[in-house]
Amino acid sequence: MKIDFNNIDQLAWEKMSGLLPCTVQHALTGEVLMQAYMNADAVKESLSTGKTTFYSRSKERLWTKGESSKNYLQLEGIFSDCDNDALLVHALPDGPTCHLGTRSCFADAPKPLLQELDALIASRKGADASKSYTASLFAKGLKRAAQKVGEEGVEVALAAATEDKDELVNESADLLYHLLVVLQASELSLEDVLEVLAKRRG
Ligand code: AMP
Ligand code: ZN
Ligand code: ZN
Ligand code: ZN
Repeated sequence: MKIDFNNIDQLAWEKMSGLLPCTVQHALTGEVLMQAYMNADAVKESLSTGKTTFYSRSKERLWTKGESSKNYLQLEGIFSDCDNDALLVHALPDGPTCHLGTRSCFADAPKPLLQELDALIASRKGADASKSYTASLFAKGLKRAAQKVGEEGVEVALAAATEDKDELVNESADLLYHLLVVLQASELSLEDVLEVLAKRRG
């Protein structure tokens, strides 16, 4: 369930000795950012301030993530699992979530697929154009990448119109890839597009 001030006491506090594990997920990309614990006061503080706050077992007090680094996790929602003994937070990070400087504390875990592809494409900027198709697209410039998006878009439309499902999924993959390239070539990322979609959702 979605947690608000009225249902906090329905969480399994007694069973969990007052502390629920809490996984934080990026509200736009779905990336898992970190894991910590919340007590009832941390849930209330998070809901009332809009800044994700945990109970730190080492500090033995409420800990607002970002209180010293300023890398707050702006709260979008708190959700409990099927038996109300675990929490999922959706948040928008102001900066790197891990105190080691990475976006996620699970820095070595795979990202959601499109995020992973977006990061890979970004890493090809300035790479050797003879060794990487993506690097060669960047080297040819924004106009060429934009042209590719146009071509792939037409191929997607043709595949759909001719009801060729196999072709449609393959051309859609081409289009998504080239769309990410054209965004990166314009100093934008998938996240910027997800932000617009999220705002439209209201
Ligand atoms: P911050 O809350 O970002 O101001 O960081 C304050 C302190 O909390 C850091 O010095 C770390 O000891 C700890 N800390 C910060 N971020 C994390 C994290 N993602 N996981 C565990 N501990 C953290
Ligand atoms: Zn559970
Ligand atoms: Zn960390
Ligand atoms: Zn194609």
